[in-house]
Amino acid sequence: MSDYRPPLRDIKFALEHIADLESVASLPGFEHVESEDVYDALDEAGRFLSEVVAPTNTIGDTQGITRNADGSVTVPDELVAAYEQFVESGWGAVKGDIEYGGHGFPSVMATAVQEMLTSSNMAFSLCPMLTSSAVEALGVHGNDEVKAAYLEKLTTGEWAGTMALTEPEAGSDVGALRAKAWPEADGTWRVQGTKIYITWGEHDMAENIIHLVLARAPEAPPGTRGISLFLVPKYLVNPDGSLGARNDVECVSVEHKLGIHASPTAVMAYGEEQGAVAYLVGEVNAGMRCMFTMMNDARLHVGLEGLGLSERAYQLALGYATERRQGRAIGAPKGESSLIIEHPDVRRMLMTMKANIEAMRALILDTSAAGDLRHHGANEEERLRGANRMALLTPIAKAWATDLGVELTSLGVQIHGGMGFVEETGAAQHWRDSRIAPIYEGTNGIQAIDLVMRKVPMAEGAVVTGYLDEMQATADELLATGNGLAAIGAALSDGVAGLRETTDWLLAAGDPNDGLAGATPYLRQFGVVAGGYYLARQAAVAGGLLDAGADDRWLQAKIDTCRFYADQILPQAAGCAPAVKAGADQLFAIDADMLG
Ligand SMILES: Cc1cc2nc3c(=O)[nH]c(=O)nc-3n(C[C@H](O)[C@H](O)[C@H](O)COP(=O)(O)OP(=O)(O)OC[C@H]3O[C@@H](n4cnc5c(N)ncnc54)[C@H](O)[C@@H]3O)c2cc1C
Repeated sequence: MSDYRPPLRDIKFALEHIADLESVASLPGFEHVESEDVYDALDEAGRFLSEVVAPTNTIGDTQGITRNADGSVTVPDELVAAYEQFVESGWGAVKGDIEYGGHGFPSVMATAVQEMLTSSNMAFSLCPMLTSSAVEALGVHGNDEVKAAYLEKLTTGEWAGTMALTEPEAGSDVGALRAKAWPEADGTWRVQGTKIYITWGEHDMAENIIHLVLARAPEAPPGTRGISLFLVPKYLVNPDGSLGARNDVECVSVEHKLGIHASPTAVMAYGEEQGAVAYLVGEVNAGMRCMFTMMNDARLHVGLEGLGLSERAYQLALGYATERRQGRAIGAPKGESSLIIEHPDVRRMLMTMKANIEAMRALILDTSAAGDLRHHGANEEERLRGANRMALLTPIAKAWATDLGVELTSLGVQIHGGMGFVEETGAAQHWRDSRIAPIYEGTNGIQAIDLVMRKVPMAEGAVVTGYLDEMQATADELLATGNGLAAIGAALSDGVAGLRETTDWLLAAGDPNDGLAGATPYLRQFGVVAGGYYLARQAAVAGGLLDAGADDRWLQAKIDTCRFYADQILPQAAGCAPAVKAGADQLFAIDADMLG
């Protein structure tokens, strides 16, 4: 039995009213997609994931994985069986190209499915997530032979993918990597080097594992300009598509970790003997561009981890709060202890979780819809609009949502009191699992730098300014209603004004170190205001539906959730501003040797 209930109504509401699924489905290439079919399919995905995958979550955490003496890695049987059903049911192939066995649905639908998969079992979800990102990269940058040999099995999930960048001396600084590659006379390449922390680098869930490895070709220039991307299969593939000889790819060890115990994190040795057989993806020395295709997709999905875990933690905490009795709430009958959900402080924690979850969901789905526009827009201008919006929002979706993931799953523990600290409850697992998400796929510090140094200055600030104007237009719309929604508009308007001020300050900052010093508080401020914007839009829709006669407590709860966020969370954005504009001097006022 699973304790996870897919939040389908909120997912569909955000898909319809924020991501505008109807418009996405009308883009070229989605002629076969009807919104109603998407909603029906999501019901089915929710049923499958909550019944088949969610029950494996605790098993994966408690049993973990085993690295055997021969270097193979064994995953708990329950996960292997769930993965087999996952592949059979086709839920990993939602957005894959029809030509390669995918269903050709928009990314935004795949993102909704991935949220439910992540809530069901985050460690498990990383395998399909990385595979789908590999499909994305090969679809854009792979040549015809590579696509013919690998894309179909990866799209269906029969083969799994990995992303192998990190080396001991090359973490955040990918440009420092040393793995090397050289061409062979037959047109193939050889790759040699050790990579660390490779997620699902070795396992027994899929019959072949396709590693996308970054390495340096002979005479490559230093830094990121000299990196190329290679496909390195665990098993070579024969011309008829069957599996051939084992490639020189070995799992040297696996890490023992704080969380995601069911996800093997492997040290991988590629080609220790004579080099592993490899195939170039894209051009020589253009590997970072290829990898960014993969990483942008993966970054959005890591943002989903903050959301997915918060949702599951929320459901668990809510259940506990409606069972556990302690103390007497104000006004409760004498001699009777109250459910803890009746205490204002517990309500505050629950509302903080609920409001932030709904805000994150809308932001992530909107970012994903921008990705659909980027690929499927009817003309160059539309595609550029989608690309710019996705570029701006991805670091926020990744970092704001994963920081919140840690905070909200921690609140989930807190709501349980002492039982939250006891593993048996399950609340602690969500918190432990969430802690990796701000670290991998580019730490949240690196995301903030990306936002400030690359995304905000895009088109001389025009992209960010356009987004600020869009948020202000929603605030004005709500202010003009003159009814209860106007207070949400007022709070949003204040939030946007504050964000505009710090954005202008960053755009004008002369010393880049000042911008770098303010990057993390700026990203937080941006996320909090953007969250308020998405909830304000949802409140406007819910208000409109209620005015039109809908008699629906869910819509009223949506408005109340938005109002809570506007009154109690959105104002926190202003608190970030002084740190954004403080500059770097204060951070370096104490010499490093005096920090101890
Ligand atoms: C469980 C797990 C799974 C992973 N999966 C994969 C995977 O599948 N494939 C893969 O290739 N890698 C993977 N990684 C690696 C992960 O992406 C890196 O750990 C991450 O990029 C950070 O690199 P690092 O650990 O070397 O930390 P460092 O780069 O040493 O960073 C340490 C600290 O310094 C900060 N920092 C570093 N440089 C700067 C800078 N220029 N400006 C400001 N701050 C900076 C960081 O933000 C961080 O706080 C995984 C890691 C873990 C733990």
